[in-house]
Amino acid sequence: MDFLEKHELYACLQCGKCTGGCPVSLRAPLNIRSLMREVLMGGSPEVALDCPGLWDCTTCAICTLRCPRGLKPSEVIVGLRAELVEGGRVPKTIIDALEGTFKHGNPWGRARQKRIEWKGDTAVKTLSDEGEAEWLYFIGCAPSYDPRLQRIPRILCRILETAGIDFGSLGTKESCCGNEIRRMGETGLFEELREENTKNFNASGVKAILTTSPHCFNTFSTEYDLDGFKVLHYTQLLADLIKEGEITFSKEVNKKVVYHDPCFLGKQHEIFDPPREILKAIPGLELLEFDRCRERSLCCEGGGGRMWAEGAGEGERNSEVRVKDAHAMGAEIIATACPFCLLTLEDGAKTTGLEEEMPIREILELVAEAMGFDDV
Ligand code: SF4
Ligand code: SF4
Repeated sequence: MDFLEKHELYACLQCGKCTGGCPVSLRAPLNIRSLMREVLMGGSPEVALDCPGLWDCTTCAICTLRCPRGLKPSEVIVGLRAELVEGGRVPKTIIDALEGTFKHGNPWGRARQKRIEWKGDTAVKTLSDEGEAEWLYFIGCAPSYDPRLQRIPRILCRILETAGIDFGSLGTKESCCGNEIRRMGETGLFEELREENTKNFNASGVKAILTTSPHCFNTFSTEYDLDGFKVLHYTQLLADLIKEGEITFSKEVNKKVVYHDPCFLGKQHEIFDPPREILKAIPGLELLEFDRCRERSLCCEGGGGRMWAEGAGEGERNSEVRVKDAHAMGAEIIATACPFCLLTLEDGAKTTGLEEEMPIREILELVAEAMGFDDV
């Protein structure tokens, strides 16, 4: 099957609904409707490989969700990137991320032994080495290595322990989930990661996987073949534990908090309510909503390999728009539930000069505060 048939490009109406919803098309050269036309008219992906903006796409999938013909324009981008990777026509920063993952199992190319650096004093059993557990907690690359994020898994471990959940991790055997790798076009490396992680999941003896990141959650639940496994994002489990009374709060968080929906949790999996239920359960916290929330949420631009690509286009970035909108509505904190959203929104707070006024917090950090975990 050729590229055009595989992506059903003959069915494209050129209606432009995909471009209308694209969060980067207003300021970056990416125009997904024109790109679809270019490939269709040219009869092969080759004609579109020089189109500007191929690395600007965040793979948020709004285009795919809005297409009236059921096409997947975001997958066309991934397919075109795969052609570029095949031909070695890839930006240096992307090559570095792919090589780092190939050699060390993470896009930053950090040493595998340091993958458990996040733990500090946290006691987490390593599955298959130290026995079995009900849940496998998959930490993810960014929370494992990024100093700003390393407290996030520490907090989640403490919460799980308090709630009496039996869990463990893969320790240094954990490798990148591959969600971003596939979206950077490296399908071969993605297959290797999928195989390796699946082998380790099977060897661990668990039947349930919990993730910090919506990106890991997305690929495990839709792109791995994990029949018989339950896969949850942490917000889903926590919302249930709160409802069941397994998690209780001892302190108030008297703040106006606006929640930013991550694309790979909200739009792509319709997990809109569990994060909000957690925030609403925190005593004293007042939950605000962005005008563009839930299905219409504005993408932060951190996904689809954009963490490793050069900045896209001119003008205000979406993360800056998000921070300014939150400030204008009187929010005191932006909360989110994704490591990439957290980092990109924090960047937006810095570049808009609103770093002090508008702190960005993982939902878990607010839960920790309300549970009185001052030392995590
Ligand atoms: S929304 Fe679908 S049919 Fe319309 S231009 Fe985009 S890909 Fe084509
Ligand atoms: S996936 Fe998102 S960023 Fe990429 S083309 Fe589609 S709407 Fe635009």
